[in-house]
Amino acid sequence: MQAARHVRFMSTSRSLVCSHVHAQKHFLRASTSRAQSRSVASTAAAASQTPPPPPPPSQGRWRYFLQTLGRVTLVTFDPSKKTLVILGSGWGATSLLKGLDTSDYNTACHTFNSAIVVSPKNFFLFTPLLPSVAVGTLNARSILQPTRYLTRHKERQVLVIEAEAKEVDPVKKTVTLSDDSEIQGQISSTTIPYDYLVYAVGAETQTFGIPGVREHACFMKELHDAEKMQRRFLDCVESAAFPGQSDEEKDRLLHMVVVGGGPTGIELSGELRDFLEEDLKSWYPELASRIRITLVEALPNVLPSFSKELIAYTERTFKESDIEILTKTMVRKVNEKSVVLKGPDGVEREVPCGMVVWAAGNTSRQITRDLMAKLPEGQTNKRGITLDDHLRMKGARDIFAIGDCTASSYAPTAQVASQQGSYLSRVFKLLAKKDKLEADLSHAEISEEAEKLKKQIDKIKLKPFHYSHQGSLAYIGSDKAIADLPIFGREWTSGGVATFMFWRSAYLSTLFSLRNRSLVAGDWVRVKLWGRDVSRE
Ligand code: FAD
Ligand code: NAD
Repeated sequence: MQAARHVRFMSTSRSLVCSHVHAQKHFLRASTSRAQSRSVASTAAAASQTPPPPPPPSQGRWRYFLQTLGRVTLVTFDPSKKTLVILGSGWGATSLLKGLDTSDYNTACHTFNSAIVVSPKNFFLFTPLLPSVAVGTLNARSILQPTRYLTRHKERQVLVIEAEAKEVDPVKKTVTLSDDSEIQGQISSTTIPYDYLVYAVGAETQTFGIPGVREHACFMKELHDAEKMQRRFLDCVESAAFPGQSDEEKDRLLHMVVVGGGPTGIELSGELRDFLEEDLKSWYPELASRIRITLVEALPNVLPSFSKELIAYTERTFKESDIEILTKTMVRKVNEKSVVLKGPDGVEREVPCGMVVWAAGNTSRQITRDLMAKLPEGQTNKRGITLDDHLRMKGARDIFAIGDCTASSYAPTAQVASQQGSYLSRVFKLLAKKDKLEADLSHAEISEEAEKLKKQIDKIKLKPFHYSHQGSLAYIGSDKAIADLPIFGREWTSGGVATFMFWRSAYLSTLFSLRNRSLVAGDWVRVKLWGRDVSRE
């Protein structure tokens, strides 16, 4: 049975006129009782307490009546529509939301919502510019976009829930979520049903179980990682400036080790170098010459996904910028004040350092591994979720997966995730049409009408997902970038200052909103005029 129908009886016409906040509370209450009836774990204590009734509307009676009438007339609950739940608010989910026709879906409760977005972050993070935040070139807020900025313009209201999905039950078709934030209300955990689930929770940083990584290294994946790195970097510099510090200790504190020669490690090393050259040299003249950046890569060269010319160009640029690259070198252990490296000669040595940034690639989140374990026949790839040609999770009913949580033949990039998201928005348009026709068919009384509907259903064909590679870009510091672009079927490579201008304009135009574009452009001007901020929060 459709989840929407399942809860029809629970809603009253009053829920159609209540405020957004009340609608959300109502939804959570309704889902909690649904969850209990389905014997799915929920917060029992919270469910047993009845929240106080919502305050009466403060506006005039006439205005209230008109609003009520408008809402009831324009947005009515349609039981033939299905419930769509989207997990995540990153590249894949945001791109889907952008293209989704929200008038095609209902939520599980009898309000005027159309889709449900669940994510522990109530914003979209523009990851390509995250390394710039780590050194203070950009303010953190400049590359965030609250998910509600996008959803508020949708035809039907989208319910955004700031919570982490803890469990997906592919048989009962439910998601259990929990609000793990610092402040929680009476209800902090619930289970919601879905008809269709879009699974777009991304990935986490791969540590390979190497000792000390989680305890002592910084990552570069989330916003708080970049903020933590910025604080730690400046802490190292200030501690080195403490009076009486020995030269040996200064050298240790000012040695920054970046692990992973993929695009994240390269971009971050380039940004660190810019901070050093453009700001730290004037703020800490006595220390600047001691600051060292070392990039450690296990493979024979950095940036394996870029062309040979660009790899050589990056390595040359890093050499000129005094960034040391250690290839064929594995990090075996991270200590509080050092890293243990195993070089090409097979010998292990301990290298003192002040900070380690770990950018060694992706691995699946625990929730993804748990979900895959429930579908052992279709899901055996350790890299992530296996999909069919239409991005449906193999072995599951009505679960679509996109982005970094999947294992496909494409690299885990924003480009792939956002193309998959837009593809799914088209798929959901067709699915809604098909679902509507099937609902009509189930009520068709005349056989002629039924035949016509069947023909229309047969005509709806979903095209498989096709990825179109737009090229790869990366910033390498010193106002230089590299680009591998497919132009007229040929690979065109370019590196240097002009490519840097192209890199900036490409990312500026890719930012989702005018607000973000103006904030980022403003930050670039600010840094050119006054330099980066060296104060430490
Ligand atoms: P994400 O964008 O990571 O989104 C995952 C979402 O799921 C997040 O909102 C997260 O909060 C949410 N989530 C997590 N756990 C849960 C849960 N349990 N329940 C509900 N929601 C959950 N790619 C490029 O193509 N070009 C670039 O220049 C580029 N630069 C990058 C720079 C950096 C520093 C990094 C780290 C990555 C970069 N990438 C780039 C890669 C790109 O960011 C990823 O491929 C992309 O983010 C994948 O999109 P996604 O939607 O799968 O995951
Ligand atoms: P990655 O997987 O591309 O690179 C990680 C690197 O770390 C690998 O080269 C690996 O050999 C190395 N490594 C792993 N363990 C190591 C160890 N113990 N010691 C030394 N080296 C070790 O990871 P990433 O750079 O975080 O990128 C993740 C994804 O995001 C990729 O698909 C990438 O293309 C994408 N991305 C793209 C851009 C861009 O296009 N500008 C920027 C950032 C990320």
